Amino acid sequence: MLDENGIYEKLTTKSHAMNIEAENYLPGGSSRAAAYFEPYPFFADKAEGHYIYDVDGNKFLDFMLNATTHILGHNHPAVGKAVEKQVKKGLSYGVPSESQIKLSKMICDRVESVDKIRFTNSGTEATLNAIRLARAFTGRHKIAKIEGGYHGTHEYVSVSVSHDITTEERNDFLGVPEWPGQPPSVLQDVLVFPYNNISAVENLIAKHGNELACIILEPVFSNIGYVPASHEFITKLREATAKTGILLIFDEVQSFRLSQGGAQQELGIVPDLTTFGKIIGGGMPVGAWGGRKDLMELYNPVSGPVIEHSGTFNANPMTMVAGEATLSQLTKENYVKLNEMGNRVRIELQTVFDELGIPAQVTGTGSLFGMHFSKHDVVDYRTMKLADQHMKKAMFKGMLDRGVLLFGKCTGALSVATGENEIEQLIDSATYVASTTLKNLNG
Ligand code: PLP
Repeated sequence: MLDENGIYEKLTTKSHAMNIEAENYLPGGSSRAAAYFEPYPFFADKAEGHYIYDVDGNKFLDFMLNATTHILGHNHPAVGKAVEKQVKKGLSYGVPSESQIKLSKMICDRVESVDKIRFTNSGTEATLNAIRLARAFTGRHKIAKIEGGYHGTHEYVSVSVSHDITTEERNDFLGVPEWPGQPPSVLQDVLVFPYNNISAVENLIAKHGNELACIILEPVFSNIGYVPASHEFITKLREATAKTGILLIFDEVQSFRLSQGGAQQELGIVPDLTTFGKIIGGGMPVGAWGGRKDLMELYNPVSGPVIEHSGTFNANPMTMVAGEATLSQLTKENYVKLNEMGNRVRIELQTVFDELGIPAQVTGTGSLFGMHFSKHDVVDYRTMKLADQHMKKAMFKGMLDRGVLLFGKCTGALSVATGENEIEQLIDSATYVASTTLKNLNG
């Protein structure tokens, strides 16, 4: 474990050298935005339970858990056993295997909105396909998303994800391109509106209701620190979309870790389609989308599919068995335990900042938490962006120096492997960083 003198750079010299070598072949040494952080990421050697070990032999307490994926902790024996057994039987086939029945049944049984499901290999592909299905079903091509919402990296969700809020106020739900040269047709077809804002929903539907194929959003908004949709907002959205024939897509790639039925069960709202990823693959690459039978029938090869959907590794048995082994461990009792720990962590973190007089908002729900250094309540992307970005960076680096890995945006997730020691270390480290570095930055 690292110590309190801010010595990440001193103890991670092999990782530093690997990052420099990687830069020869990978831009910035990286293949994934979320896996890069300053000054450079440590390179993993192995991981076990709540801990990840780097190539220099350091041990980090991991609250990133591969972007919330490892809900059982790393390397859970049940998952390892299932994967080892499958390795001996073959990694992938060009025909189906029983494993896809087991995992799909489990998800269909648990999630009210999902009559049928289709697998792919990433959350990005899940949202891409759900949007395509909505377009094919409705015959409409415009879609709408939430300002600041992240749904992967394909074109139709890469609008208004991470822009600066000083960008001039946009009219008529026009989004902000994520990179130069983004086709104008994408911006015409993807409308953007603020989270938790009922009048924006009313205006959007009044103006564009009959031309929208779908509205996609996370019922718990990850990018702003796991803020759940307000009851009034999500109820309004469900009613308004149902009336106008717009399909409501819940992106539960992250929020499916809240209960057996996902965030939709907690909110009591049934969307038309749901997208999945992360935990349902037990650590193997995965994505899926599912929903009402009449929608999913568009893929039925027997009746003649309206949408051809293929993929060499879709529903591959390695992913299916890892997913099944993971979900089998996720009993109702485990969710209760996870969510209670999450409540405790959020309360204790907020107390740390309050007692030190540091303006902070600890957000999150279930086993997910986020920290924002701000006086303002975080309800949407713009209020999240008001937080002090220097303090956020200092918090992340301070925790890293003490051997605690968070997401760069100062969010984190708990796992079934989280215990008393891990919570204590998280809170003690946060107290140390807040009372030293942050207190100074706060002036
Ligand atoms: N949707 C949400 C809400 C996500 O958080 C992510 C990934 O973090 C995705 C979609 C994309 O998933 P993947 O990284 O598997 O492509």
